[in-house]
Amino acid sequence: MSEDNDLKNFLIKKGASKVGFANVDGLAEGFIDLPYGISLVLKIPKKAMIYIENEDYESYWSCFHSLIDRLTEISIKGEKYIKNHGYDAFALTMSRNECDMKRLLSILPYKTIATKSGLGWIGRSALFVTPDYGSAVVLGGILTNMPLTFGTQITDSQCDDCENCQKACPVGAINPQKWNTKLNRNDIIDIGKCREYIVEQYKNGLGCTKCMYECKLTKKYLGRL
Ligand code: SF4
Ligand code: SF4
Repeated sequence: MSEDNDLKNFLIKKGASKVGFANVDGLAEGFIDLPYGISLVLKIPKKAMIYIENEDYESYWSCFHSLIDRLTEISIKGEKYIKNHGYDAFALTMSRNECDMKRLLSILPYKTIATKSGLGWIGRSALFVTPDYGSAVVLGGILTNMPLTFGTQITDSQCDDCENCQKACPVGAINPQKWNTKLNRNDIIDIGKCREYIVEQYKNGLGCTKCMYECKLTKKYLGRL
């Protein structure tokens, strides 16, 4: 079995739901000089989605944060695994990916590695969408120079005629424009409007996960279609 297949199996065994490989050469320039990206996808358990249905955001966020911790653990274990095999690696944990909270941007977006790996696309909601779990996923990544067999990049939305998330957004933040790699995030979502609403919701111990929950493919994953 090839080295990258062994790595994929290792990461799946550690808990990743999906793993993909992509060429991200130059995309993290000035940050870390490693040309290849490993996309880690962790599905949000159905149990957590039921918390949303019940508007039990305290339980939902607690579950969400433990998923982020798990993702961090998996990526650190992946980094160690790769280094033990003689290559360089850098786990892109959330704290290392230095998110600009004001503009909600990171140095190398997990979504970029994931779409380049062919694991899914950017939905109308600007969330990452997978065929198997819809938007009910959290994403992580690892950078490396280990030779990898890249997936086929997805460059266009596969949302087709679906507008569920757009219709579900309480503040009309989602534009009708479907994603492709030539567009900027601002073309598909008014992130300021979304953020403002979420901040207000947090103040009341709530949140907004409507576009994630109402995604056609999330519903399919939950067996609600
Ligand atoms: S999180 Fe809520 S406010 Fe933001 S885009 Fe999704 S549905 Fe709209
Ligand atoms: S709800 Fe429909 S349009 Fe929105 S991200 Fe999901 S599949 Fe795409």
